[in-house]
Amino acid sequence: MKINELLNALKAQEIACSEEQVNLLNTFMKVTLETNEKFNLTAITNEDEFVEKMIYDSALALYDLDLTEKSIIDVGTGAGFPGMVIKILEPNAKVTLLDSTAKKINHLLGFAKEQNINVEGIANRAEDYARNNREKYDYATARAVSQLNILLELIIPMLKVGGTFIGMKGQGYEEEINNSKEALRRLNCRISSIYEFELPESHEKRAIIHIVKEKETNKKYPRQYTDIKRLPL
Ligand code: SAH
Repeated sequence: MKINELLNALKAQEIACSEEQVNLLNTFMKVTLETNEKFNLTAITNEDEFVEKMIYDSALALYDLDLTEKSIIDVGTGAGFPGMVIKILEPNAKVTLLDSTAKKINHLLGFAKEQNINVEGIANRAEDYARNNREKYDYATARAVSQLNILLELIIPMLKVGGTFIGMKGQGYEEEINNSKEALRRLNCRISSIYEFELPESHEKRAIIHIVKEKETNKKYPRQYTDIKRLPL
């Protein structure tokens, strides 16, 4: 997808986007690819592919949502996907970018400062941060971080009751949902919507899964990461 095709592609999904926002997303892509030459941020280095699989794909997190004035945490944001794309497209959202790699967070905060973008960056492991930041966010998201049942344990504790986790998945998401039944139950949350997409050029399948938190999370979650990995819910 060419960068000048992005605006119409987003409009087709009823995701609002202006020319200025496209320009800022383009700058973000250039800076990401430049920085990628110094340290590894993304495997995708072709610009057209980047527009489709990193920017357009991240923007799909906004599908059927209004994040105006809402708080959202992007867990395992890496080079800022989808978190920075969300902030650029929805500047009124209160966006927190979290990643365990300080270098990635520093890079994102550097870009944000340069562009006068007001985001919070946190260099920490999700399970450690979640333990001290419970029932805090309206929304949370994560892309390409881990399997759904593991993600739920990391993320649901950080959501307010009534808050929504925006899960971003690809082909095979149904199986991940099947493997998450126990996690959903123990963490008092339920799937409220599933939206399926196909990327316009590569025709890869995507699914956005909305998971609503219905009750406060038991304080025993999240467990230590070794236990989460060894004995996933
Ligand atoms: N979301 C980005 C990056 C995916 S790579 C994208 O879609 O491009 C996964 C990222 O998650 C890495 O940057 C890694 O540092 C981070 N990560 C993995 N497990 C984590 C954890 N438990 N807490 C915080 N960050 C984590």
